[in-house]
Amino acid sequence: MPDYNESGIFTGVLRMNIDLSWLRHHPKDLEVFNLEKQYGDLEIAKDVHLLDRVAVELEVTNTGRLMVGKGEIRATLELQCDRCLKPFRRRVKLPFNVEFCPEENRSFFKDEETFVYFTEPQVDIEPVVLESIVLSLPLRALCSPDCKGLCYMCGQELNLAECNCQEKEIDPRWEALKKILNGEGG
Ligand SMILES: [Zn+2]
Ligand SMILES: [Zn+2]
Repeated sequence: MPDYNESGIFTGVLRMNIDLSWLRHHPKDLEVFNLEKQYGDLEIAKDVHLLDRVAVELEVTNTGRLMVGKGEIRATLELQCDRCLKPFRRRVKLPFNVEFCPEENRSFFKDEETFVYFTEPQVDIEPVVLESIVLSLPLRALCSPDCKGLCYMCGQELNLAECNCQEKEIDPRWEALKKILNGEGG
């Protein structure tokens, strides 16, 4: 469904709306939606920026009272490394699950909070897409699993160069001995 030119550049309409009008009247049937939206730089959580294009592939099945969607989100994120504090980019591919419930069936599902309720067949899935991305983020973002981070004493970025702090750091036991040797007592 997405449109690209010969250079692979997306030229279609950028949208995050799906139209469930056909599927609503076809119980047990399914429909596949491909959506794309271009983001410049959107901060979706603290130190989490969404960059470039977000692509969503979603297969929605009409189960009768509900429309169950399963698919995948592809996005480029800029995160801040927890150790060295530098921003870094990461392309992510995440599973995406969403349930759409027609408003008139809301009471049947006891107002289930995770559902997306709709009255119009055009449903904007952007909020639930962004929420899924945020929820998938690790608690600690690392630019690389072996990032050495910053020296807690001088702030040197240890990925770039070593510092001398480890050598200068004096063991408190040696500190006590030094005092005795200097006649300061213990
Ligand atoms: Zn790092
Ligand atoms: Zn240091």
